[in-house]
Amino acid sequence: TSTLTTDWVVAWLRESARVVSEQRQYLIDLDRAIGDADHGENLDRGFTAVVKKLDDGDHPATPGAVLKLAAMTLMSSVGGAAGPLYGTALLRAATSLGDTELIGPNEVAGLLTAARDGIVARGKAESGDKTMVDAWTPAVEAAGTAAMAGASVAEVLAAAANAANAGAAATEPLIARKGRASYLGERSAGHLDPGAVSSGLILQAAVDAAGA
Ligand code: ADP
Ligand code: MG
Ligand code: MG
Repeated sequence: TSTLTTDWVVAWLRESARVVSEQRQYLIDLDRAIGDADHGENLDRGFTAVVKKLDDGDHPATPGAVLKLAAMTLMSSVGGAAGPLYGTALLRAATSLGDTELIGPNEVAGLLTAARDGIVARGKAESGDKTMVDAWTPAVEAAGTAAMAGASVAEVLAAAANAANAGAAATEPLIARKGRASYLGERSAGHLDPGAVSSGLILQAAVDAAGA
């Protein structure tokens, strides 16, 4: 595939819902160690609500409009930190696309960058604070590098997902400086950040939705 369409966005959201539901308990267990054991439940509730919106009659026509619908749904259905963070991410991604119908490699890199910038604007975390930003920032950098090198949309997404998963794995030794885990101070070290792990899952879902 050389370009992605609304169908890819819909498939991405559906695949995100599927994988979040499948990994629900794992994400809960990660959050139990350094948080309040609800990350899997929060995301499962949110993405289930998104799928319900997609199943309710016709979804919007453009990629941006579908992302915006998902953003609003996540914001209104997910309590806790992750709902507003992922909601803002998808809203900024939607805005970066505007009325664009066909998403090429540069648009993919652009929408991921906008999503990351939204998370940072909302949560004010820096790299190394042991949050989902530690998955998103390497993902955005890898996507930008791949797009500039002439990679396909599938290759840009794969580069992003691989970097996100590596970034998530690298949160284990870190001491949390943002969010609930920061209350634990040094005791937060030795555990993966749940939101960084879920970000890797969601970005891998974007790859799988592209049929790579
Ligand atoms: P809550 O902490 O309110 O229970 P969740 O458990 O759903 O919410 O989400 C926790 C995740 O949210 C963390 O693992 C982290 O990745 C992310 N997070 C929390 N605060 C921030 C922040 N300020 N910036 C970026 N990400 C954050
Ligand atoms: Mg939690
Ligand atoms: Mg909570």
